[in-house]
Amino acid sequence: ITSKLPTVGTTIFTVMTRMAAEYGAISLSQGAPDFPCSNELIDLITHYMKAGFNQYAPMEGLMALREQIALKTERCYGYAPDPLSEVTVVTGATEGLFAAITAVIHPGDEVIVLEPCYDSYIPAIELCGGKAIRISLESETYRIPWQQLANAINSRTRLLIINTPHNPTGTILRKEDIQQLAALLKDTQILLISDEVYEHIIFDGEPHYSVLREPELRERSFVMSSFGKTYHATGWKMGYCIAPAFLTRELRRVHQFLVFSTHTPTQYALADYLKKPETYEDLPAFFQKKRDMFRQMMSQTRFRLLPSEGSYFQLASYAHMTDEGDADYATRLTKEYGVATIPVSAFYKEGTDNKILRFCFAKKDETLEKAVERLAKV
Ligand code: PMP
Ligand code: GLN
Repeated sequence: ITSKLPTVGTTIFTVMTRMAAEYGAISLSQGAPDFPCSNELIDLITHYMKAGFNQYAPMEGLMALREQIALKTERCYGYAPDPLSEVTVVTGATEGLFAAITAVIHPGDEVIVLEPCYDSYIPAIELCGGKAIRISLESETYRIPWQQLANAINSRTRLLIINTPHNPTGTILRKEDIQQLAALLKDTQILLISDEVYEHIIFDGEPHYSVLREPELRERSFVMSSFGKTYHATGWKMGYCIAPAFLTRELRRVHQFLVFSTHTPTQYALADYLKKPETYEDLPAFFQKKRDMFRQMMSQTRFRLLPSEGSYFQLASYAHMTDEGDADYATRLTKEYGVATIPVSAFYKEGTDNKILRFCFAKKDETLEKAVERLAKV
């Protein structure tokens, strides 16, 4: 058959996780904690399972959960979305992203993405017959090149995708960036997807500046969040999308036929758990401790660390150490030194290789210590 995604291989996260298992390596590759999620949350889920809440949830998500999501959003960003028409529970942000892109992209539409970017965006755009217009974030600072972005906009531009805190670079967009974006999109019909799955993983006292704080932007945006990231439970595939009613209507048209609804007992449990703000407000301090510890230990290796302002990722350059390409180097580190990472070229459609690796520090302290012990030998 003729492939609909002829240039797409197996996602790097699967490739590196498999390789780590095969060689018994410590995995700092795929972004997933190796420590347990909350017991209280697990108890709540099993409670609801045993109580018989095991059939289809409403297509849009359980109302009690959507109400709590709206309350949390108001608390965090001073904006209360309407749970009825503006909040949808999705099967992980991955599904939300796919549903949003599919809902609005027609063949020939252009979608601007800022590379490096999460690997699901471009395939989703291309499956819709859309064209991904790729703009590189500035070298090593990974700031948005505003002039280039402005120049890329034309009458075919349908959508822009941003991500803050950013995977894989760990940069964040500040208030000034979001306001600049609002000024750029004002008086255009361009829609926005703001991937904010790491909204609660942000360091050094910086606030997460959600596009939901900016009326000009939230009126045209799908904002994605992930309980997998916030509650250390990536395997549950639970997230949500906040979007104005006219976009939510379109999102749900796709979502209902992609998955219909998501795991019922987990939705009941999350509706209870979200009532406690400390369950997400404690995250910055928790992960900053890990970031600081990991950076401090890594400073004794030969890797050159880039800044990490948010997300649970740390980039490191090895350009001064070897000429090997990043995919080969990541493979060799896994096989010979027993530490799996993600080569950052995987976040560029054409594999741009700047000899930078991504390390995930959402790991137990002892895992990080053992990994750095091995990396110190490189
Ligand atoms: N966007 C980004 C930037 C991510 O890092 C991830 C992580 N998996 C996702 C979306 C998908 O989130 P989920 O696991 O909830 O599907
Ligand atoms: N977001 C995670 C990461 O960047 C992985 C998600 C996935 O495996 N699809 O590592």
